[in-house]
Amino acid sequence: MNPKDALHQFFGFESFRGSQAAIIERVLGGGHALVIMPTGAGKSLCYQIPALLPCSDQDSKAVTLVLSPLIALMKDQVDALRASGIEATFINSSLSREERERRYTEVAEGRYRLLYVTPERFRKPEFREVIARRDVRLLAVDEAHCISEWGHDFRPDYSRLIEIRELLGQPTTIALTATATPDVQTDIVRQLGLRPDEIELFHEGIERPNLRLDVQEVWGDDEKLEHIVAVHGRHAASTGSGIVYFTLIRTLERFSELLRQRRVPHVCYHGDLERNDRRRIQNEFMQGHCPLVLATPAFGMGIDKEDIRFVLHAEIPGSMEAWYQEIGRAGRDGLASDCLLLYDEADLTTQMEFIRWSNPDADFYHRVYDFVAHDHERATAFGLDWLRDQLHAKHKHDHRLETVLGMLERYGVIEGTWDDESLQLDVLSALPDELLDRDRLAIKLRRDQEKLLALVRLIRHEGDRMDFIREYFGQGRKLAMPMDRP
Ligand code: ADP
Ligand code: MG
Repeated sequence: MNPKDALHQFFGFESFRGSQAAIIERVLGGGHALVIMPTGAGKSLCYQIPALLPCSDQDSKAVTLVLSPLIALMKDQVDALRASGIEATFINSSLSREERERRYTEVAEGRYRLLYVTPERFRKPEFREVIARRDVRLLAVDEAHCISEWGHDFRPDYSRLIEIRELLGQPTTIALTATATPDVQTDIVRQLGLRPDEIELFHEGIERPNLRLDVQEVWGDDEKLEHIVAVHGRHAASTGSGIVYFTLIRTLERFSELLRQRRVPHVCYHGDLERNDRRRIQNEFMQGHCPLVLATPAFGMGIDKEDIRFVLHAEIPGSMEAWYQEIGRAGRDGLASDCLLLYDEADLTTQMEFIRWSNPDADFYHRVYDFVAHDHERATAFGLDWLRDQLHAKHKHDHRLETVLGMLERYGVIEGTWDDESLQLDVLSALPDELLDRDRLAIKLRRDQEKLLALVRLIRHEGDRMDFIREYFGQGRKLAMPMDRP
Protein backbone atom coordinates (compact mmCIF):
# COMPACT_ATOMS: atom_id res chain seq x y z
CA MET A 1 0.00 0.00 0.00
CA ASN A 2 1.28 3.49 -0.81
CA PRO A 3 0.05 6.81 0.61
CA LYS A 4 -2.40 7.33 -2.19
CA ASP A 5 -3.93 3.88 -1.69
CA ALA A 6 -4.33 4.62 2.01
CA LEU A 7 -5.99 7.93 1.14
CA HIS A 8 -8.55 6.11 -1.06
CA GLN A 9 -9.03 3.07 1.10
CA PHE A 10 -9.35 4.61 4.54
CA PHE A 11 -10.55 8.13 3.88
CA GLY A 12 -12.27 7.83 0.51
CA PHE A 13 -10.55 10.92 -0.89
CA GLU A 14 -9.42 11.32 -4.49
CA SER A 15 -6.18 13.22 -4.11
CA PHE A 16 -3.89 14.95 -1.66
CA ARG A 17 -4.24 18.65 -1.05
CA GLY A 18 -1.47 21.24 -1.02
CA SER A 19 1.73 19.86 0.46
CA GLN A 20 0.14 16.82 2.13
CA ALA A 21 1.86 14.40 -0.23
CA ALA A 22 5.27 16.03 0.19
CA ILE A 23 4.93 16.08 3.97
CA ILE A 24 3.91 12.43 4.08
CA GLU A 25 6.85 11.49 1.89
CA ARG A 26 9.17 13.43 4.15
CA VAL A 27 8.09 11.70 7.37
CA LEU A 28 7.91 8.27 5.75
CA GLY A 29 11.55 8.83 4.83
CA GLY A 30 12.32 9.50 8.48
CA GLY A 31 12.63 13.28 8.17
CA HIS A 32 11.21 15.66 10.75
CA ALA A 33 8.66 18.24 9.66
CA LEU A 34 7.12 21.44 10.96
CA VAL A 35 3.78 22.02 9.29
CA ILE A 36 1.93 25.32 9.26
CA MET A 37 -1.41 25.10 7.51
CA PRO A 38 -4.65 26.98 8.02
CA THR A 39 -7.40 25.41 10.09
CA GLY A 40 -9.39 22.94 8.03
CA ALA A 41 -6.65 22.49 5.44
CA GLY A 42 -6.00 18.89 6.46
CA LYS A 43 -3.10 18.65 8.87
CA SER A 44 -4.28 15.38 10.45
CA LEU A 45 -3.79 13.28 7.31
CA CYS A 46 -0.11 14.23 7.35
CA TYR A 47 0.44 11.87 10.29
CA GLN A 48 -2.58 9.58 9.95
CA ILE A 49 -1.53 8.22 6.56
CA PRO A 50 2.05 7.42 7.63
CA ALA A 51 0.58 5.73 10.71
CA LEU A 52 -1.38 3.35 8.49
CA LEU A 53 1.28 2.26 6.10
CA PRO A 54 2.62 -1.11 7.14
CA CYS A 55 6.31 -1.15 7.82
CA SER A 56 8.44 -4.14 7.09
CA ASP A 57 10.20 -5.02 10.31
CA GLN A 58 8.77 -5.47 13.80
CA ASP A 59 5.50 -4.31 12.44
CA SER A 60 3.42 -5.29 15.40
CA LYS A 61 5.22 -2.90 17.71
CA ALA A 62 5.01 0.16 15.51
CA VAL A 63 2.68 2.92 16.60
CA THR A 64 2.16 6.59 15.87
CA LEU A 65 1.79 8.65 19.02
CA VAL A 66 -0.23 11.83 18.73
CA LEU A 67 0.17 14.53 21.36
CA SER A 68 -2.84 16.75 21.47
CA PRO A 69 -3.73 19.37 24.07
CA LEU A 70 -7.45 18.84 23.91
CA ILE A 71 -9.09 15.96 25.68
CA ALA A 72 -12.40 17.22 24.31
CA LEU A 73 -11.34 16.67 20.70
CA MET A 74 -9.65 13.31 21.06
CA LYS A 75 -12.80 11.27 21.26
CA ASP A 76 -14.28 12.77 18.10
CA GLN A 77 -11.08 12.29 16.16
CA VAL A 78 -10.67 8.71 17.30
CA ASP A 79 -14.34 7.91 16.67
CA ALA A 80 -14.00 9.21 13.12
CA LEU A 81 -10.90 7.09 12.52
CA ARG A 82 -12.52 3.98 13.95
CA ALA A 83 -15.56 4.53 11.76
CA SER A 84 -13.15 4.18 8.80
CA GLY A 85 -11.81 0.94 10.20
CA ILE A 86 -8.61 2.38 11.62
CA GLU A 87 -7.16 0.97 14.83
CA ALA A 88 -6.93 4.14 16.89
CA THR A 89 -7.57 5.01 20.51
CA PHE A 90 -6.93 7.63 23.13
CA ILE A 91 -5.97 7.50 26.78
CA ASN A 92 -6.87 10.39 29.03
CA SER A 93 -8.41 11.38 32.33
CA SER A 94 -11.96 11.23 30.94
CA LEU A 95 -11.81 7.42 31.01
CA SER A 96 -12.80 5.31 33.97
CA ARG A 97 -9.96 3.59 35.73
CA GLU A 98 -10.94 0.17 34.36
CA GLU A 99 -11.20 1.47 30.82
CA ARG A 100 -7.86 3.22 31.11
CA GLU A 101 -6.18 0.10 32.39
CA ARG A 102 -7.75 -1.96 29.66
CA ARG A 103 -6.31 0.39 27.07
CA TYR A 104 -2.90 0.36 28.73
CA THR A 105 -2.89 -3.42 28.44
CA GLU A 106 -4.00 -3.35 24.82
CA VAL A 107 -1.34 -0.82 23.91
CA ALA A 108 1.32 -2.83 25.70
CA GLU A 109 0.20 -5.92 23.79
CA GLY A 110 0.72 -4.19 20.47
CA ARG A 111 -2.78 -3.11 19.57
CA TYR A 112 -3.52 0.23 17.78
CA ARG A 113 -1.68 2.06 15.04
CA LEU A 114 -2.53 5.49 16.39
CA LEU A 115 -2.61 6.52 20.01
CA TYR A 116 -3.76 9.96 21.17
CA VAL A 117 -2.65 11.37 24.53
CA THR A 118 -2.01 14.76 26.11
CA PRO A 119 1.60 15.48 27.01
CA GLU A 120 0.55 15.37 30.68
CA ARG A 121 0.08 11.61 30.27
CA PHE A 122 3.87 11.26 30.40
CA ARG A 123 3.77 12.18 34.06
CA LYS A 124 2.25 8.76 34.76
CA PRO A 125 4.88 6.09 35.27
CA GLU A 126 2.35 3.41 34.13
CA PHE A 127 2.06 5.14 30.79
CA ARG A 128 5.79 5.58 30.38
CA GLU A 129 6.19 1.86 30.99
CA VAL A 130 3.50 0.90 28.50
CA ILE A 131 4.69 3.17 25.72
CA ALA A 132 8.26 2.01 26.18
CA ARG A 133 7.14 -1.43 25.01
CA ARG A 134 6.09 -0.03 21.67
CA ASP A 135 8.16 1.25 18.81
CA VAL A 136 7.00 4.82 18.31
CA ARG A 137 7.75 5.30 14.61
CA LEU A 138 6.24 8.69 14.41
CA LEU A 139 5.54 11.32 17.03
CA ALA A 140 2.93 13.87 15.97
CA VAL A 141 2.70 17.04 17.99
CA ASP A 142 -0.62 18.67 17.18
CA GLU A 143 -1.31 22.32 18.04
CA ALA A 144 2.45 22.67 18.31
CA HIS A 145 2.27 26.38 19.13
CA CYS A 146 1.45 25.21 22.70
CA ILE A 147 5.11 24.19 22.96
CA SER A 148 6.33 27.72 23.05
CA GLU A 149 6.21 29.96 26.01
CA TRP A 150 6.18 32.74 23.42
CA GLY A 151 3.07 31.22 21.84
CA HIS A 152 -0.44 32.15 22.85
CA ASP A 153 -1.57 28.91 24.46
CA PHE A 154 1.51 27.77 26.29
CA ARG A 155 1.08 24.42 28.01
CA PRO A 156 3.88 23.71 30.46
CA ASP A 157 3.90 19.98 29.68
CA TYR A 158 4.53 20.69 26.03
CA SER A 159 7.91 21.99 27.05
CA ARG A 160 8.91 18.49 28.15
CA LEU A 161 9.18 17.44 24.53
CA ILE A 162 12.92 16.92 24.68
CA GLU A 163 12.51 14.44 27.55
CA ILE A 164 9.56 12.80 25.85
CA ARG A 165 11.42 12.34 22.58
CA GLU A 166 14.39 10.94 24.45
CA LEU A 167 12.21 8.44 26.28
CA LEU A 168 10.70 7.34 22.98
CA GLY A 169 14.09 6.88 21.36
CA GLN A 170 14.16 10.07 19.25
CA PRO A 171 11.39 9.13 16.83
CA THR A 172 10.64 10.94 13.59
CA THR A 173 8.63 13.95 14.63
CA ILE A 174 6.02 16.05 12.91
CA ALA A 175 4.80 19.23 14.61
CA LEU A 176 1.65 20.89 13.31
CA THR A 177 -0.09 24.19 13.91
CA ALA A 178 -2.28 26.73 12.17
CA THR A 179 -0.48 29.74 13.60
CA ALA A 180 3.10 30.27 14.62
CA THR A 181 5.19 33.39 14.24
CA PRO A 182 8.84 32.98 13.17
CA ASP A 183 9.90 33.27 16.83
CA VAL A 184 7.51 30.53 17.84
CA GLN A 185 8.64 28.34 14.93
CA THR A 186 12.23 28.61 16.08
CA ASP A 187 11.18 27.88 19.63
CA ILE A 188 9.19 24.79 18.59
CA VAL A 189 12.27 23.38 16.88
CA ARG A 190 14.42 24.12 19.91
CA GLN A 191 11.89 22.56 22.28
CA LEU A 192 11.89 19.40 20.18
CA GLY A 193 15.64 19.21 20.69
CA LEU A 194 16.29 19.56 16.95
CA ARG A 195 18.54 21.83 14.92
CA PRO A 196 16.81 23.96 12.26
CA ASP A 197 18.64 22.05 9.52
CA GLU A 198 17.20 18.74 10.74
CA ILE A 199 13.58 19.72 10.29
CA GLU A 200 11.80 20.87 7.17
CA LEU A 201 9.33 23.72 7.37
CA PHE A 202 6.16 23.34 5.30
CA HIS A 203 4.50 26.74 5.52
CA GLU A 204 1.28 26.67 3.56
CA GLY A 205 0.39 30.12 4.68
CA ILE A 206 -2.36 31.02 7.02
CA GLU A 207 -4.79 32.54 4.60
CA ARG A 208 -8.46 31.65 4.53
CA PRO A 209 -9.80 33.21 1.34
CA ASN A 210 -13.46 32.85 2.31
CA LEU A 211 -13.05 34.98 5.45
CA ARG A 212 -13.78 38.68 5.02
CA LEU A 213 -11.64 40.47 7.57
CA ASP A 214 -12.67 43.88 8.76
CA VAL A 215 -11.78 46.17 11.64
CA GLN A 216 -13.73 49.18 12.87
CA GLU A 217 -12.65 51.76 15.39
CA VAL A 218 -15.55 52.50 17.67
CA TRP A 219 -16.34 54.67 20.63
CA GLY A 220 -18.48 53.23 23.42
CA ASP A 221 -21.15 50.56 23.74
CA ASP A 222 -23.73 52.15 21.45
CA GLU A 223 -21.52 52.00 18.41
CA LYS A 224 -20.53 48.45 19.24
CA LEU A 225 -24.12 47.40 19.58
CA GLU A 226 -25.02 48.86 16.19
CA HIS A 227 -22.25 46.82 14.57
CA ILE A 228 -23.30 43.62 16.32
CA VAL A 229 -26.92 44.08 15.34
CA ALA A 230 -25.95 44.90 11.75
CA VAL A 231 -23.69 41.86 11.28
CA HIS A 232 -26.22 39.60 12.93
CA GLY A 233 -28.96 41.04 10.71
CA ARG A 234 -26.92 40.48 7.58
CA HIS A 235 -26.75 36.78 8.37
CA ALA A 236 -30.21 36.42 9.87
CA ALA A 237 -31.48 34.54 6.83
CA SER A 238 -28.68 32.00 6.85
CA THR A 239 -28.95 28.69 8.67
CA GLY A 240 -25.48 29.11 10.15
CA SER A 241 -24.46 30.73 13.39
CA GLY A 242 -22.33 33.52 14.79
CA ILE A 243 -20.07 34.19 17.75
CA VAL A 244 -19.47 37.52 19.45
CA TYR A 245 -16.37 37.41 21.61
CA PHE A 246 -15.84 39.49 24.74
CA THR A 247 -12.87 39.72 27.06
CA LEU A 248 -14.80 40.36 30.23
CA ILE A 249 -17.84 38.49 31.53
CA ARG A 250 -19.09 41.84 32.81
CA THR A 251 -19.18 43.34 29.32
CA LEU A 252 -20.69 40.20 27.89
CA GLU A 253 -23.56 40.40 30.37
CA ARG A 254 -24.12 44.07 29.64
CA PHE A 255 -24.43 43.37 25.93
CA SER A 256 -26.63 40.38 26.56
CA GLU A 257 -29.07 42.74 28.25
CA LEU A 258 -28.84 45.30 25.42
CA LEU A 259 -29.50 42.60 22.83
CA ARG A 260 -32.40 41.26 24.85
CA GLN A 261 -33.96 44.71 24.76
CA ARG A 262 -33.56 44.65 21.00
CA ARG A 263 -35.16 41.20 20.91
CA VAL A 264 -32.12 39.55 19.42
CA PRO A 265 -32.17 35.93 20.61
CA HIS A 266 -28.84 34.62 21.85
CA VAL A 267 -27.15 32.51 24.50
CA CYS A 268 -24.17 33.33 26.71
CA TYR A 269 -21.10 31.21 27.36
CA HIS A 270 -18.33 31.98 29.84
CA GLY A 271 -16.13 30.47 32.48
CA ASP A 272 -18.39 31.40 35.39
CA LEU A 273 -21.15 29.08 34.24
CA GLU A 274 -21.48 25.63 35.74
CA ARG A 275 -19.70 22.96 33.83
CA ASN A 276 -23.01 21.29 32.92
CA ASP A 277 -24.47 24.52 31.60
CA ARG A 278 -21.38 25.10 29.53
CA ARG A 279 -21.60 21.64 28.06
CA ARG A 280 -25.31 22.01 27.33
CA ILE A 281 -24.86 25.36 25.60
CA GLN A 282 -21.95 24.06 23.57
CA ASN A 283 -24.00 21.04 22.45
CA GLU A 284 -26.98 23.19 21.53
CA PHE A 285 -24.73 25.48 19.57
CA MET A 286 -23.10 22.58 17.74
CA GLN A 287 -26.52 21.22 16.81
CA GLY A 288 -27.53 24.61 15.43
CA HIS A 289 -30.21 25.36 18.04
CA CYS A 290 -28.76 28.70 19.09
CA PRO A 291 -27.55 30.72 16.14
CA LEU A 292 -25.91 33.48 18.20
CA VAL A 293 -23.51 33.04 21.11
CA LEU A 294 -21.96 35.75 23.21
CA ALA A 295 -18.79 34.21 24.58
CA THR A 296 -15.50 34.73 26.30
CA PRO A 297 -12.41 32.98 24.90
CA ALA A 298 -13.40 30.00 27.08
CA PHE A 299 -15.71 29.17 24.17
CA GLY A 300 -13.75 27.67 21.37
CA MET A 301 -11.85 24.62 22.53
CA GLY A 302 -13.54 21.95 20.48
CA ILE A 303 -15.82 24.27 18.51
CA ASP A 304 -15.60 22.59 15.16
CA LYS A 305 -18.81 23.72 13.53
CA GLU A 306 -18.90 23.96 9.77
CA ASP A 307 -21.23 26.89 9.25
CA ILE A 308 -20.14 29.66 11.56
CA ARG A 309 -21.00 32.67 9.39
CA PHE A 310 -19.41 35.36 11.51
CA VAL A 311 -16.99 35.84 14.37
CA LEU A 312 -17.14 39.30 15.83
CA HIS A 313 -14.84 40.68 18.51
CA ALA A 314 -16.58 43.27 20.64
CA GLU A 315 -13.40 43.82 22.68
CA ILE A 316 -9.85 43.59 21.40
CA PRO A 317 -8.41 40.11 22.10
CA GLY A 318 -5.06 39.61 23.82
CA SER A 319 -2.85 39.03 20.82
CA MET A 320 -2.69 38.74 17.07
CA GLU A 321 -2.44 34.96 17.48
CA ALA A 322 -5.49 34.71 19.75
CA TRP A 323 -7.54 36.81 17.34
CA TYR A 324 -6.46 34.82 14.30
CA GLN A 325 -7.20 31.54 16.05
CA GLU A 326 -10.64 32.72 17.13
CA ILE A 327 -11.70 34.02 13.73
CA GLY A 328 -10.37 30.76 12.26
CA ARG A 329 -13.51 29.08 13.57
CA ALA A 330 -15.57 30.87 10.95
CA GLY A 331 -16.38 29.42 7.55
CA ARG A 332 -14.98 25.92 7.82
CA ASP A 333 -17.43 24.94 5.08
CA GLY A 334 -15.56 27.26 2.73
CA LEU A 335 -18.48 29.69 2.32
CA ALA A 336 -18.06 33.43 2.76
CA SER A 337 -17.96 34.49 6.40
CA ASP A 338 -17.46 37.77 8.22
CA CYS A 339 -14.79 38.50 10.80
CA LEU A 340 -15.15 41.90 12.35
CA LEU A 341 -12.92 43.32 15.04
CA LEU A 342 -14.32 46.29 16.94
CA TYR A 343 -11.64 48.43 18.45
CA ASP A 344 -12.36 50.82 21.26
CA GLU A 345 -9.10 52.22 22.55
CA ALA A 346 -10.41 52.06 26.11
CA ASP A 347 -10.42 48.23 25.89
CA LEU A 348 -6.68 48.18 25.54
CA THR A 349 -6.27 48.87 29.26
CA THR A 350 -8.11 45.66 30.11
CA GLN A 351 -5.81 43.58 27.96
CA MET A 352 -2.70 45.29 29.31
CA GLU A 353 -3.86 44.36 32.79
CA PHE A 354 -4.53 40.74 31.73
CA ILE A 355 -1.01 40.54 30.36
CA ARG A 356 0.44 41.74 33.63
CA TRP A 357 -1.60 39.13 35.48
CA SER A 358 -0.40 36.35 33.25
CA ASN A 359 3.19 37.37 33.98
CA PRO A 360 3.53 37.28 37.76
CA ASP A 361 6.71 38.82 39.12
CA ALA A 362 9.38 37.11 41.20
CA ASP A 363 7.88 38.42 44.41
CA PHE A 364 4.58 36.69 43.67
CA TYR A 365 6.42 33.44 42.97
CA HIS A 366 8.08 33.72 46.37
CA ARG A 367 4.83 34.36 48.17
CA VAL A 368 3.00 31.43 46.57
CA TYR A 369 5.94 29.18 47.27
CA ASP A 370 6.07 30.24 50.92
CA PHE A 371 2.43 29.34 51.40
CA VAL A 372 2.54 25.95 49.75
CA ALA A 373 5.84 25.02 51.37
CA HIS A 374 5.40 26.47 54.86
CA ASP A 375 1.67 26.69 55.34
CA HIS A 376 1.11 23.42 53.63
CA GLU A 377 -1.51 22.07 56.00
CA ARG A 378 -3.88 25.01 55.73
CA ALA A 379 -3.35 25.35 51.98
CA THR A 380 -4.28 21.70 51.59
CA ALA A 381 -7.32 22.01 53.81
CA PHE A 382 -8.79 25.17 52.25
CA GLY A 383 -7.76 25.12 48.58
CA LEU A 384 -7.09 27.85 46.04
CA ASP A 385 -9.81 30.23 47.19
CA TRP A 386 -8.19 30.45 50.59
CA LEU A 387 -4.76 30.82 49.10
CA ARG A 388 -5.98 33.62 46.86
CA ASP A 389 -7.30 35.46 49.92
CA GLN A 390 -3.98 35.09 51.69
CA LEU A 391 -2.17 36.47 48.66
CA HIS A 392 -4.60 39.37 48.53
CA ALA A 393 -5.31 38.62 44.92
CA LYS A 394 -7.95 41.26 44.30
CA HIS A 395 -9.51 39.54 41.38
CA LYS A 396 -10.68 35.94 41.32
CA HIS A 397 -10.09 35.84 37.60
CA ASP A 398 -6.59 37.13 37.57
CA HIS A 399 -5.19 33.58 37.26
CA ARG A 400 -1.81 34.59 38.61
CA LEU A 401 -1.99 31.84 41.18
CA GLU A 402 -2.80 29.17 38.59
CA THR A 403 -0.02 30.48 36.36
CA VAL A 404 2.50 30.22 39.18
CA LEU A 405 1.37 26.75 40.28
CA GLY A 406 1.55 25.56 36.67
CA MET A 407 5.09 26.86 36.31
CA LEU A 408 6.15 25.41 39.67
CA GLU A 409 4.85 22.06 38.56
CA ARG A 410 6.53 22.31 35.18
CA TYR A 411 9.85 22.96 36.88
CA GLY A 412 9.36 20.02 39.22
CA VAL A 413 9.06 22.20 42.32
CA ILE A 414 5.64 20.85 43.22
CA GLU A 415 3.54 17.89 42.19
CA GLY A 416 -0.17 17.32 42.67
CA THR A 417 -3.65 18.58 41.85
CA TRP A 418 -5.62 21.69 42.76
CA ASP A 419 -8.88 23.47 42.31
CA ASP A 420 -10.83 26.18 44.11
CA GLU A 421 -11.91 23.95 47.00
CA SER A 422 -8.96 21.69 47.49
CA LEU A 423 -5.30 21.42 46.93
CA GLN A 424 -3.19 18.33 47.17
CA LEU A 425 0.41 18.80 46.48
CA ASP A 426 3.87 17.83 47.48
CA VAL A 427 6.74 20.25 47.51
CA LEU A 428 9.75 18.56 45.96
CA SER A 429 12.40 21.24 45.78
CA ALA A 430 13.32 24.87 46.30
CA LEU A 431 12.43 27.59 43.81
CA PRO A 432 14.87 27.46 40.89
CA ASP A 433 16.64 30.69 39.97
CA GLU A 434 15.38 30.40 36.43
CA LEU A 435 11.80 31.05 37.52
CA LEU A 436 12.83 34.13 39.44
CA ASP A 437 15.12 35.54 36.79
CA ARG A 438 13.93 39.11 36.48
CA ASP A 439 15.37 39.55 32.98
CA ARG A 440 13.58 36.48 31.71
CA LEU A 441 10.30 37.56 33.29
CA ALA A 442 10.70 41.04 31.83
CA ILE A 443 11.36 39.69 28.33
CA LYS A 444 8.33 37.45 28.51
CA LEU A 445 6.17 40.37 29.62
CA ARG A 446 7.47 42.55 26.81
CA ARG A 447 6.84 39.89 24.21
CA ASP A 448 3.27 39.47 25.37
CA GLN A 449 2.74 43.21 25.17
CA GLU A 450 4.21 43.27 21.67
CA LYS A 451 1.75 40.62 20.52
CA LEU A 452 -1.11 42.80 21.67
CA LEU A 453 0.42 45.89 20.10
CA ALA A 454 0.80 44.01 16.81
CA LEU A 455 -2.96 43.76 16.74
CA VAL A 456 -3.27 47.49 17.34
CA ARG A 457 -0.78 48.11 14.53
CA LEU A 458 -2.86 45.88 12.27
CA ILE A 459 -5.95 47.92 13.08
CA ARG A 460 -4.09 51.11 12.23
CA HIS A 461 -2.37 49.62 9.18
CA GLU A 462 -2.92 51.70 6.05
CA GLY A 463 -1.94 49.10 3.48
CA ASP A 464 -3.27 45.61 2.81
CA ARG A 465 -4.06 44.04 6.17
CA MET A 466 -3.55 40.53 4.84
CA ASP A 467 0.03 41.47 3.87
CA PHE A 468 0.60 42.59 7.44
CA ILE A 469 -0.76 39.29 8.80
CA ARG A 470 1.30 37.19 6.38
CA GLU A 471 4.41 39.07 7.40
CA TYR A 472 3.60 38.60 11.08
CA PHE A 473 3.31 34.83 10.70
CA GLY A 474 6.44 34.64 8.58
CA GLN A 475 4.87 33.35 5.42
CA GLY A 476 7.47 32.91 2.72
CA ARG A 477 10.34 32.89 5.18
CA LYS A 478 12.68 30.08 6.12
CA LEU A 479 13.26 28.78 9.61
CA ALA A 480 15.65 31.11 11.36
CA MET A 481 18.78 29.64 12.85
CA PRO A 482 18.90 30.26 16.59
CA MET A 483 21.88 32.61 16.26
CA ASP A 484 19.80 34.89 14.04
CA ARG A 485 17.74 35.73 17.04
CA PRO A 486 18.32 39.10 18.64
P1 ADP B 1 -6.79 20.80 10.32
O1 ADP B 1 -6.27 19.90 11.40
O2 ADP B 1 -5.71 21.29 9.41
O3 ADP B 1 -7.62 21.92 10.84
P2 ADP B 1 -8.22 18.45 9.49
O4 ADP B 1 -7.07 17.55 9.42
O5 ADP B 1 -9.12 18.31 10.67
O6 ADP B 1 -7.77 19.97 9.39
O7 ADP B 1 -9.04 18.31 8.13
C1 ADP B 1 -10.13 19.15 7.83
C2 ADP B 1 -11.08 18.43 6.88
O8 ADP B 1 -10.51 18.29 5.60
C3 ADP B 1 -11.43 17.04 7.36
O9 ADP B 1 -12.81 16.86 7.24
C4 ADP B 1 -10.67 16.15 6.41
O10 ADP B 1 -11.28 14.90 6.24
C5 ADP B 1 -10.66 16.97 5.14
N1 ADP B 1 -9.52 16.62 4.25
C6 ADP B 1 -8.22 16.63 4.60
N2 ADP B 1 -7.44 16.27 3.56
C7 ADP B 1 -8.26 16.05 2.51
C8 ADP B 1 -8.06 15.64 1.13
N3 ADP B 1 -6.85 15.40 0.65
N4 ADP B 1 -9.15 15.51 0.36
C9 ADP B 1 -10.39 15.76 0.85
N5 ADP B 1 -10.64 16.14 2.13
C10 ADP B 1 -9.60 16.27 2.95
MG1 MG C 1 -6.24 19.81 13.49
